Amino acid sequence: MNTRSLVSAAVLAAALAALAAPVRAGGGHAHEHGVTHLDIVVDGGRVALRLQAAGHHIVGFEHAPESAAQHAAWAAAEAALADASALFQPDAEAACRAVSAAVTPPGGGKAAHGQAHGHQHHGHAHADHADDDGHGHGGDWHADYRFECAAPERLRGIRHALFRAFPGTEEVRWQLLAPTGQDGGVLRAGQDRIAVPRAR
Ligand SMILES: [Zn+2]
Repeated sequence: MNTRSLVSAAVLAAALAALAAPVRAGGGHAHEHGVTHLDIVVDGGRVALRLQAAGHHIVGFEHAPESAAQHAAWAAAEAALADASALFQPDAEAACRAVSAAVTPPGGGKAAHGQAHGHQHHGHAHADHADDDGHGHGGDWHADYRFECAAPERLRGIRHALFRAFPGTEEVRWQLLAPTGQDGGVLRAGQDRIAVPRAR
């Protein structure tokens, strides 16, 4: 056995459970404009990713959408974030497929379309504003993704398209936990691949 720290099954199970838990206001990473956080857990054939990003670089504002343009930007961001296969490409050799994508807009989705009250007529009538002050953790978007891989032993890396999909992104801060080890770092524009620690 080598002395490099292998991640125990218990730790992986706990990490997966944490990623499976609902996003909570106040949890997760600090709110920073231009910074997208990515937490990744690889466990056997399962790959789970959780994304957290400030509304500032996802839609360009951090309050409930008000104008028609903001509603359109909001819907476009939801659609872009929900497209797991476009945003993340595990190595083709690993034969992974996206099995789920769940997007949680700021405010837990309450601020999205379908809001019962007609805030579009009076921009500041809605109560959500008071909670979030248009800023802080309430301005964060979250998304959870699951992939299943038929040949996980061939998974050496995951490509992402976050800089392309959200051009206001300055950094992707990632951490990854796998049976073969853990790693983390910061990616900047042009760095589109996250390596999975190799078994030895
Ligand atoms: Zn902000």
